[in-house]
Amino acid sequence: MNVYDSELVGSLLEECDYTLTQDMSEADAVFLNTCAIREKAEETVHNRLDNLHVLKRTKPNMILGVLGCMAQNLKDDILESRPYVDVILGPDSYRRIPEIIKARQGEMDNFVDTRLSKFEVYDDLFPSRHDGVNAWISIMRGCDKFCTFCIVPFTRGRERSRSIQSVVDETINAVSQGFVEITLLGQNVNSYRTPDGEFPELLKAVAKVEGVKRIRYTSPHPQDIDDALLEVMRDHSNICNYIHLPLQAGSDRILKRMNRTYTQQEFLDLVDKIYEYMPNCSISTDIIVGFPGETEDEFLETLDVVKKVHFDSSFMFKYSSRPGTKAAEYTDQISEDDKQNRLERLIVLQRKNTLSANLRHVGNTLSVMVEKVSKKSDSQWAGRTDGNMWVVFDKTDEQIKDIVNVKIEDAKGITLFGSRIHTEELIHEAA
Ligand code: SAH
Ligand code: SF4
Repeated sequence: MNVYDSELVGSLLEECDYTLTQDMSEADAVFLNTCAIREKAEETVHNRLDNLHVLKRTKPNMILGVLGCMAQNLKDDILESRPYVDVILGPDSYRRIPEIIKARQGEMDNFVDTRLSKFEVYDDLFPSRHDGVNAWISIMRGCDKFCTFCIVPFTRGRERSRSIQSVVDETINAVSQGFVEITLLGQNVNSYRTPDGEFPELLKAVAKVEGVKRIRYTSPHPQDIDDALLEVMRDHSNICNYIHLPLQAGSDRILKRMNRTYTQQEFLDLVDKIYEYMPNCSISTDIIVGFPGETEDEFLETLDVVKKVHFDSSFMFKYSSRPGTKAAEYTDQISEDDKQNRLERLIVLQRKNTLSANLRHVGNTLSVMVEKVSKKSDSQWAGRTDGNMWVVFDKTDEQIKDIVNVKIEDAKGITLFGSRIHTEELIHEAA
């Protein structure tokens, strides 16, 4: 989401005749697009700001801005402790950038706008994208779910969706720039709702755009995955058979305390249903360990679900207390040592699952989109299967953005290795 938002900001800056530089010391303006989801993300920004402060001393005219969720959340802190920051803009205020840049050419004080909007979806603004295979497209902003651990509803405000037409127009624009994979983005993509249709209708409309070879989306909420969505995924070959399905925790008591709105059994039933529609679907997840009050037994329930579902991959986090959220007020916080210990045990289990899921593919032929030259060797490509697994194979006559058949010969860690198969037939991912 932040990459996408940065591309929006890039496009606004281009309107002011700015161009992107990779060299910070050359920059006339530096904007940090920030994340507030966990404390660690915030620390990273604080460290960056310290470094930029040094740079700004040598270049006093450089504009320094903090954008996004941290700007929203910590504007008073930043204003007070870092007066050298010139601009603070929340996620609904990026349109003000050209005006600020102009004002700045005169003289001005700090500029702060962190008002959240019920309407801003940047519908008519196309991001400035750079070369690549995948184009991110934000389809909705904000979140109304209020999971008790999460800062997003506070920093990004209420849920609102863009029109189907504007998403389709942006898709056509991305394809015309050479992008062949589209990833639809939102805090809750499947809460997408417009007078012209909901998320399944949007997916169908994007799948019809000529030149779109692959569609992914992230993140859906388990509560809002329904038959209509699974049918659309099953029936369109360019919609990847891949779902990122955040579990968060395995215990019903903790799920309730998190306000996740599903039980362990409902989650497991949903996984079964996904496999009924798409037997080869890849499923990944997000898990938080050490949520306030989580007992050892409740943590073991999380491990149990991970064993049962056998997620292809997981993003695993230690609970991070976010001031302002409900869970931050719970008095039974878990010690750092226990959180660390649980995280390590979970990671060990997930690594085993990922490797065994990958080893299952050895001997199969998978369709792989060529995405880039492999980091290890210029004579090899790296690409992803539609289930989101990375595959490395020797180059033959294919090019970046081609979807080709690769016979899998080995699996190491999270990467599959194989050889290109030259058949006309496109073999869909075998189990
Ligand atoms: N909207 C998505 C998640 C967005 S945040 C969803 O509901 O699934 C991405 C992930 O960060 C979450 O799924 C959660 O696992 C993690 N996360 C959010 N807040 C957190 C916190 N306070 N501490 C640790 N992890 C957190
Ligand atoms: Fe945060 Fe996702 Fe819950 Fe919304 S649904 S509050 S973004 S974790």
